[in-house]
Amino acid sequence: MSVDYAARIGRARSAMAGAGVDSLLLSVGPDLPYFTGYDAPQLERLTMAVLAADGRATLVVPRLEAMKVTDVGAYEILPYDETDDPVAMVARLVGEARHVAIGDKTWAVFVMALQESMSGAAFRKASDITASLRAIKDAAEIEELAAAGAASDRVAGRLAGARFAGRTEKELAAEVRAMCEDEGHDKGWDPIVGSGPNGASPHHGAGDRVIAQGDTVVIDFGGTIGGYHADTTRTFSVGEPSSEVATAYAVLMEAQRSGVDSAVVGTEAQGVDRATRSIIDTGGYGDLFIHRTGHGIGLDIHEDPYIVEGNRQVLEAGMAFTVEPGIYRPGEWGMRIEDVVVATDDGPRNLNMASHELVVVA
Ligand code: ZN
Ligand code: ZN
Ligand code: ZN
Repeated sequence: MSVDYAARIGRARSAMAGAGVDSLLLSVGPDLPYFTGYDAPQLERLTMAVLAADGRATLVVPRLEAMKVTDVGAYEILPYDETDDPVAMVARLVGEARHVAIGDKTWAVFVMALQESMSGAAFRKASDITASLRAIKDAAEIEELAAAGAASDRVAGRLAGARFAGRTEKELAAEVRAMCEDEGHDKGWDPIVGSGPNGASPHHGAGDRVIAQGDTVVIDFGGTIGGYHADTTRTFSVGEPSSEVATAYAVLMEAQRSGVDSAVVGTEAQGVDRATRSIIDTGGYGDLFIHRTGHGIGLDIHEDPYIVEGNRQVLEAGMAFTVEPGIYRPGEWGMRIEDVVVATDDGPRNLNMASHELVVVA
């Protein structure tokens, strides 16, 4: 994927000017690769991109990490040695700036040291500048998301023929993650496999429970391609579902479809949440849908725009987000359907076309 980093930095500068920010400081987290192409490891050694008031863009990086940085020509790379003080280096680059925005995921230990060394500056969060830029994906980013979604769809297809009964959630989770990498994800993330009553906990993880005949199983899985995330959920029934599960699932499917269809440019993010929730409410399961409908997705798995009541952010072409309503009956079962959807001028584009039906497995 070829990226014009100078253009992205240019857009950051315009947003900074509009927000009255003189200096933008980005450390670990997705803002850094978005603007510099470098995804820094989580380290006690500071890595920081500085977009300074004087127009200079600099990446301060530990010397032993510097060889991993690709020079994209958009900023100066400034390596430092073990005995140097990187906080002082950043403070010098910031200079007299009075309004500093700092990356949301920067370690507190560095935020505190930087605040101490720039006592005259007011700090705010970088997402005030970066979130709205990152929320609108360009064509190359959408293609990465689409490739990641297609790989997940192939995994969903394989799961329909997989053996469930008699295996632990952890065993199945390891297989799902391996399938993700097999089907093209650079890196799979640890999936959620919630069987039977565990499925009623939306972020269960995967445990030692042995999957049994009659279980409903929620599998939430994915990985990344070029740093861009897939995040897909499908629900399986080991053997034929009970009529209670089948009835609830029909409501869930209709709700999810309605959410996807509502994701048109110009709609408020909360409108998509209302589209799924109203159907689940009418179906009588409103109390059992205990989370927002979705989240934006890109270099981060959860980012703007959040699909939640109260978010009046208007969907724009290029915004990518999940539509993932669920119904959770405590102590008994859970179910969720999750797709990644891109708002386009031609209507919602669903990146997950694997069957949305409750898949009966053995
Ligand atoms: Zn989630
Ligand atoms: Zn998910
Ligand atoms: Zn999700």
